[in-house]
Amino acid sequence: MSRTSILSCEEVTVAFDGFKAVQGMSLSLDPGELRFLIGPNGAGKTTMLDVICGKVKPVSGSVSFHSRAGVVDITKRKEHKIAELGIGRKFQTPSIFAGLSVMENLEIAMSQNRSVWATLRASLTARERERIDEELALIGLGDHRHTRAGLLSHGQKQWLEIGMMLMQEPEILLLDEPVAGMTDRETDKTGELLQEIVKRRTVVVVEHDMEFVRNFASKVTVMHEGRLLKDGTMDEIQRDDRVAEVYLGK
Ligand code: ADP
Repeated sequence: MSRTSILSCEEVTVAFDGFKAVQGMSLSLDPGELRFLIGPNGAGKTTMLDVICGKVKPVSGSVSFHSRAGVVDITKRKEHKIAELGIGRKFQTPSIFAGLSVMENLEIAMSQNRSVWATLRASLTARERERIDEELALIGLGDHRHTRAGLLSHGQKQWLEIGMMLMQEPEILLLDEPVAGMTDRETDKTGELLQEIVKRRTVVVVEHDMEFVRNFASKVTVMHEGRLLKDGTMDEIQRDDRVAEVYLGK
């Protein structure tokens, strides 16, 4: 792993009942990157996120996390341990508490080791209030702090969930199609949010929306049939004949 990487996947192979969903895949992330992972359906993108967050274990290869606390081989670590170390994962469906307010959702996310009710009964410290205010401003829900989460728009729910991840101070955020189902305006706002987040953290996004990728990607990794097809800037990716053949041109 290079000294500057925050995460390095080396030659990762994943098999499901003998079928290789990912084969010899290597991926290295620099701190503060907004990396997009693209490729046709079934290319192995989600499986790679699953490997990084520990949900799926590779049959060979390794994953190391160069966290603020030091370099950790997370290949065999349990999913919750990897989350504690500082890698957060967001799935497509938001997992928010629909009956609670936006602010209460953030409070719960901040104090993972307390029960929900103990958290809501406890009064917030000044520092905790400040953190929640910062996060509300970042995710653009400052005016909705008392709104029930279930009443938010689809886009706002996604931002709330991103805010909930941020309350846990991850160093790396893994997002699976965060703009799916969003309006154009919500999609742009999400891109701006991600650009703000990478000022302090590293983000990996699995994405199908190519316009979104074009507008916000600094670096793109293309997968095809479980393998790395190409890493590069959006310009480099768009000029690549193999990428055009398997993906962009289809
Ligand atoms: P992508 O995210 O690029 O669409 P996936 O990582 O979801 O691709 O899937 C890669 C391949 O692995 C697909 O052929 C998919 O059907 C298969 N796959 C993914 N998860 C499982 C699983 N739990 N069991 C069996 N096959 C799986």
